[in-house]
Amino acid sequence: MKRRNDIRNIAIIAHVDHGKTTLVDKILAYTGHFDERDKPVDQFMDQNDLERERGITIVSKNITATYKGVNINIIDTPGHADFGGEVERVLNMADGVLLLVDAFEGPMPQTRYVLSKALSLDKKVVVIVNKVDKDNCRPEEVQEMVFDLMCELEAAEDQLDFPTIYGSAKNGWMGPDYKKQEPDVSYLLDQILEHIPGPQLIEGTLQFQITAIDHSNYIGRIAIGKVNRGTIKAGQMISLVKKDGSIQKLRIKELFGFKGQERESREIISAGDICAVSGIEKFEIGDTISDLESPEAMPPITMDEPTMSMLFTVNNSPFFGKEGKFVTSRQLRDRLMKETEKNLALRVEETESPEVFNVHGRGVLHLSILIETMRRESYELQVGKPRVLTKESPNGKLEPIEELVIDCPDNFSGTVIDMVTKRMGELEKMEPRGGMMHLEFKVPTRGLIGLKNIMLTATAGEAIMYHRFSHYGPWKGEIESRNKGVMIASEPGEAIPFAMNKLQETGHFFIPPGDAIYEGQIVGEHSRENDLVVNLTKAKKLTNIRAAGSDDKVKLPPPKVMSLEQAMEYIADDEYVEITPGHIRLRKILLKESDRKRVANPALVHIKF
Ligand code: GDP
Repeated sequence: MKRRNDIRNIAIIAHVDHGKTTLVDKILAYTGHFDERDKPVDQFMDQNDLERERGITIVSKNITATYKGVNINIIDTPGHADFGGEVERVLNMADGVLLLVDAFEGPMPQTRYVLSKALSLDKKVVVIVNKVDKDNCRPEEVQEMVFDLMCELEAAEDQLDFPTIYGSAKNGWMGPDYKKQEPDVSYLLDQILEHIPGPQLIEGTLQFQITAIDHSNYIGRIAIGKVNRGTIKAGQMISLVKKDGSIQKLRIKELFGFKGQERESREIISAGDICAVSGIEKFEIGDTISDLESPEAMPPITMDEPTMSMLFTVNNSPFFGKEGKFVTSRQLRDRLMKETEKNLALRVEETESPEVFNVHGRGVLHLSILIETMRRESYELQVGKPRVLTKESPNGKLEPIEELVIDCPDNFSGTVIDMVTKRMGELEKMEPRGGMMHLEFKVPTRGLIGLKNIMLTATAGEAIMYHRFSHYGPWKGEIESRNKGVMIASEPGEAIPFAMNKLQETGHFFIPPGDAIYEGQIVGEHSRENDLVVNLTKAKKLTNIRAAGSDDKVKLPPPKVMSLEQAMEYIADDEYVEITPGHIRLRKILLKESDRKRVANPALVHIKF
């Protein structure tokens, strides 16, 4: 097999904050692509706010560092299992991976999935134990933890024989011995050149599978991927083979390679290298750009199936359009359809109503990231309760089952097992590991909805939980859902402290006093099982001036404010989460109490607005 020696394609697997951005900056600085003295305040491989909040990488970006005449293409990988499709696409372009771990924390459960994928795809692994400058670090122990993890993930013999590099990205060095500081990161670069093979040089007619999409206001849509076979030239005529087998003949315009973090115009690029192409406006991820005369598609990109669905609707609450710029069904539809081009694990179905879409995704996290992104882009929308996608089989209904791993302090393990068992989880493994109790379960995807929240509360935030889809299995029967009713506003207006105060014993509010509310909005949780309609807009009768003034002195406990994910997991079948740039509100689908009483099953009304 012929390999190119002038290129290395590598992916970095790292938990957020373990130092990936810092390391990439140092590599680019060392290889002269970028002068650290000119460094802007923002590091350029830096994640967006959302990623930082969630502790995972969502979008992948490419950069290229040139060292000893070799172009090292560094492909960023998304860290979370909910992005299984993304992970596989990215890893397919790489011939090896750098596993970067913090010398104190060690490998984190969130990176397990990506590492196991990389191992199963036969990628060579180079391990970097970073932050060895930290006082309480334990580099040797962490190296052993990585080794154990790789064994557990069934790494092949040559994969277990991985080189380990120690260093401090912050201080700009990497070397073979953590006790001996080196002057720079060249040791790491040499190890990459030595241990990670160059890409295969496959001769023959052109084949290039589109694995990512970019957009530029000047040149339009840009297709990114690795040239698998042959060569590609700027301005060349090609055949675009679509997923459905249809073929379009067209001319590509510009061709780009990567240099540092920039795209660089090129005339020709050959097999093994990563490139970007402009001029083909209509394409999808997975399409193959191939030879004009003898077009040949590459195997389709395999995707993890969606396991969950949610209704997305236009915002039709009384507060619609107050904050967002994009609020119509047309705008919602276009945005969702655009998302499906890049977000391969996402599916959007239209429904009988033009205002309602059924969106399928990989889990609550996957869907909540899309919603949060849209919210930041100034969209308004409402979403219904997440549902798992079941399948029919000759033996009855099947539902998605997940592997759930929880690490928690030993004294909480009883509570944790109890919680998961109540949700139809089955304990499969229990052993002390690294000072914590390590628990493994199989649990229906349904049982995970809302679990993280109550688990963190019950374990004082100390449980680390990680799950991934395992298989479809027989339906496990009903799982107990929310056992409390909600408090629903009966009148629109301003929530008055006096009125809220009177209800203090009745439940816990989700809103602060003074908030504008509408009829049918869920304003709090009832302490009992049934829903309760409450009037928060009634002020105390003004008998005299002093009495009116005393309203201000009412002391209320702080409202329980939910994150988007928490709200999505909280709502019942007949409720929506309303999302606007400035607010996350809960509401009944039917706002009027008389309507709710009239309809036998309010959860079914959403289609018929
Ligand atoms: P990323 O989320 O993996 O991209 O992590 P960053 O590169 O943004 O680093 C996260 C934090 O760790 C930042 O505050 C860095 O300054 C710090 N950091 C990165 N590398 C090192 C290191 O080698 N030693 C120490 N002490 N801190 C580091």
